Amino acid sequence: MSQENIDSPAFLLHQGITDSLNIGILVINRARKIIIWNKFMETYSKVKAKDILGKDLYECFPELPRPWVERKLKSVFLLKSHSFTSWQQRPYLFRFPHNRPITGDVDFMYQDCAFVPISLKEEEVGCVCIAIFDVTDVYIYQSKLDEASETMETLEKLSQRDGLTGVYNRRHVEKELGARFKEAREGGKDLSMMIIDLDHFKKINDTRGHLAGDEVLRKLGHLLLSDMRKEDIVGRYGGEEFIVVMPNTQMGSAMEIAEKLRKAIENMAVVYENEPIPVTASIGLSQFRHEMLDYKEIIKESDDGLYKAKESGRNCVICP
Ligand code: GH3
Ligand code: MG
Ligand code: MG
Repeated sequence: MSQENIDSPAFLLHQGITDSLNIGILVINRARKIIIWNKFMETYSKVKAKDILGKDLYECFPELPRPWVERKLKSVFLLKSHSFTSWQQRPYLFRFPHNRPITGDVDFMYQDCAFVPISLKEEEVGCVCIAIFDVTDVYIYQSKLDEASETMETLEKLSQRDGLTGVYNRRHVEKELGARFKEAREGGKDLSMMIIDLDHFKKINDTRGHLAGDEVLRKLGHLLLSDMRKEDIVGRYGGEEFIVVMPNTQMGSAMEIAEKLRKAIENMAVVYENEPIPVTASIGLSQFRHEMLDYKEIIKESDDGLYKAKESGRNCVICP
């Protein structure tokens, strides 16, 4: 572009308008020479328009993703239609600093880019205007939103767990049991459940101390989580009582699972302050039947089984 053109009133008017915009405007011709470079571009690139006009885009900015820019330019020249890219596809075209307070995780200006065809003569696209929008704030808000929803998800998951043992807490396991109970009633599915209660646990607390008791509970939580099937729902129902909900499971297999678990608890090696703690548990087992109207009834039946197991001398599985 000649000096004469650059000094013409029309050019100065356009320059005045583009300079007043708070977006980056650069225009290049078919030869990839820069024709317009507005104030925004000057400010953030620290390159003055007078030093860049008429020069090759890629020579001035060798760090530009040339194949990508070329693909964009060629399609705009050819199809004569706008093209837009968001920061989510490509965070920036020109690596500019941002003017936000230092937040720690943003070190450049996030940009949306529009490629706009400009026809100098009728029909023929002679130039492409590239508009750069500073969307750093959008990026910051989006990241904060993502972080918040991750935290919410973690909190939601934590709120379902028992802190000491890692299994579900009573509220969550009852909610799950309620849902499986509904499936069994309405969908004709099988459902079994068991309540596990440690034998003479109070004695462990009394003789070895409360922390030793906690260690037993923690170990039992781990054992339940590792030994039960993926589909089983394991929860802590009370102090030293645990529940296992077994969806799609009939009494025959539930009995086998419970008996295997009872033996595993008996063989569980709990050591506290270098001394082993022998542990056994009694288990009450029950199965959904259609006359049960509420999930509390299936719990009640397991509880009856547990009571009988304790009466029968403990360390056994009983289905009432
Ligand atoms: P049984 O064989 O009849 O079940 O006897 P038990 O001693 O296990 O039963 P009991 O219900 O009398 O005692 C349960 C004990 O569990 C009483 C309580 O102090 C203890 N306990 C409850 N929650 C915790 C806990 O979080 N940590 C520890 N260490 N003890 C707990
Ligand atoms: Mg108990
Ligand atoms: Mg007990």
